[in-house]
Amino acid sequence: MKIWANSGDSHLVEPDDIFSTRLPRELADRMPRSVKDADGSHETLHVDGQEIRRRMPNIETSLTDENGLTVSQRAPGANDMSLRLQDLNAEGIWAELVYPSIGIWMSSIRDPKLLAAGCAAVNDWAFEFQRFNERYVTTATIPLLDSEHAVAEIERSAAIGFKAAYFSVTPGLGARDWHYTDDWEPVWSAIEETGLVIAFHIGTEAHDATSTHGNYFRGPGGAMLNYMETTYGGQRAVSKMIASGVFDRHPGIKTIVSEGGATWGPFVADRLDEAYRQHAVMINPKLRRLPSEYLYENVYASFQHDRSAVKAVTAMGWQNVCWGSDYPHTEGTYGHTQKTLHELFDDVDEAAMRRMTVGAFEELFPHVPAAPSNGTETPGEA
Ligand code: MN
Repeated sequence: MKIWANSGDSHLVEPDDIFSTRLPRELADRMPRSVKDADGSHETLHVDGQEIRRRMPNIETSLTDENGLTVSQRAPGANDMSLRLQDLNAEGIWAELVYPSIGIWMSSIRDPKLLAAGCAAVNDWAFEFQRFNERYVTTATIPLLDSEHAVAEIERSAAIGFKAAYFSVTPGLGARDWHYTDDWEPVWSAIEETGLVIAFHIGTEAHDATSTHGNYFRGPGGAMLNYMETTYGGQRAVSKMIASGVFDRHPGIKTIVSEGGATWGPFVADRLDEAYRQHAVMINPKLRRLPSEYLYENVYASFQHDRSAVKAVTAMGWQNVCWGSDYPHTEGTYGHTQKTLHELFDDVDEAAMRRMTVGAFEELFPHVPAAPSNGTETPGEA
């Protein structure tokens, strides 16, 4: 029986000419641009005068999967609004929270005006998907070097019709972190007023040409260790929001951490509560409610394959967990979504399955039309 699920983690891959066609030349030339090595193993990323060498990441279109296929061969619908719906229908994916890909690299930019111009260009392009079909919930990329530019793009994006704001897990280079209330309070206020969901995607720490770029470890096991390391940024980001009282002051804010699994939620909630209780004398600011209450109510998470993630709902009582496809990335489920959904949910009771496949997502994005009933092979025209 076909299972239909909303995805809390999907991606667009921006066209190469996104900046050259939308920005003045002097700005476009400074935006992220990737030059790949002939053998496809490495790339040089040019960002505003910096040159960053790195192994080809899996979000780029030229990376091949285990069958030797590139993203555009493997998932030709990734950047075509109509074809993409065909892929989603075939996979049983209904609505998607859709992140950019290059947006992740915009965290290397240090000039607030340049970053703001780049975000606006990406956002105007990305919103065409949501305008085309409400199953696409595209995220607005927010320039996060300072609160003035961030607030301006939050308000502009909400006015366009965006429902979600993509935040990197740390602010831009040189900016103070999320728990510095003096710096970011205007942003939290703008988010609450506009009702945008803050969408954190793991692995999006700001970095420049001299930093590690996610390569924290070398040597034996390095690749696996680095993959593990990308997971923690989302947990840190929401912990900073909770600990600095963001949800105390703005209980209407909802945030999701995409691609980072789910059982960390109850774990982090317990750790924060223990700190709050056992180290009470050192805690500043005091909160109105226990940290865990904010995590359980204001924070959501998406996972793709993790069998343990289901237990966050069924055994640990965290209801804010949704599945995500990570389409079209190689960590994702494209090509085997139904197999994955059945493996995850066949032995889970109906209510918990509905919560993870559709319910938590619908709570975040109530404007999205309801998914087809399970067992429906092809949905009617949306
Ligand atoms: Mn993802």
